[in-house]
Amino acid sequence: MSGPPRIGYFADIFQTVKSLAVGMSITLRYCFSRTVTIQYPEQKIDFAPRYRGIHEFEADKCIACDLCAKACPVDCIYIDYSGRGKNAKLHRFAIDYSKCMFCALCTEPCPTECIHMGRLHDLSGYTREDTVVEFLELHEKGLRTPMPLWMHKKDLPAWAAEEKARVERGELAPTVSDADIKPVQAVKRR
Ligand code: SF4
Ligand code: SF4
Repeated sequence: MSGPPRIGYFADIFQTVKSLAVGMSITLRYCFSRTVTIQYPEQKIDFAPRYRGIHEFEADKCIACDLCAKACPVDCIYIDYSGRGKNAKLHRFAIDYSKCMFCALCTEPCPTECIHMGRLHDLSGYTREDTVVEFLELHEKGLRTPMPLWMHKKDLPAWAAEEKARVERGELAPTVSDADIKPVQAVKRR
């Protein structure tokens, strides 16, 4: 025999309706708010002046001292070399971007200033292994940073075509030093 409904029964209905109303009001609010996503790379992203992207590496200046790898808190720089000092020969310089946290600590101890934080941020690939960038192999192709897959597309928008040309020329990205941060103005490294 069923008695009158418990008070908890109505409380549950009230809670359900209330949470639906709250959820729908949030959804509605976002329906009419300004869009924050953009169609990249068709639209350009304006990064912060000191944005740290995928590294740019000048292999010809590297003396294989290992200081960057020792400074890396997550051990994601892999260096292989033979010889010491002036006779050092680099055989491998790779960074695993599945671990890198873009802290830039590797750039600070470099005695020849040959490792830099770049401006590109996307490293799309088809396998997990694609996240390990072999910078020496890139150097052999005249590049200092990996080229995102979208850069191989035809009909790139103007800003992207310019960026692609810069990467192909092996030029370092313009950057801003701490001293120049006010006023914000890009300073070319070379
Ligand atoms: S940016 Fe930081 S985490 Fe990435 S390689 Fe350099 S030291 Fe390691
Ligand atoms: S600290 Fe600089 S010179 Fe030394 S191994 Fe790293 S990139 Fe090369």
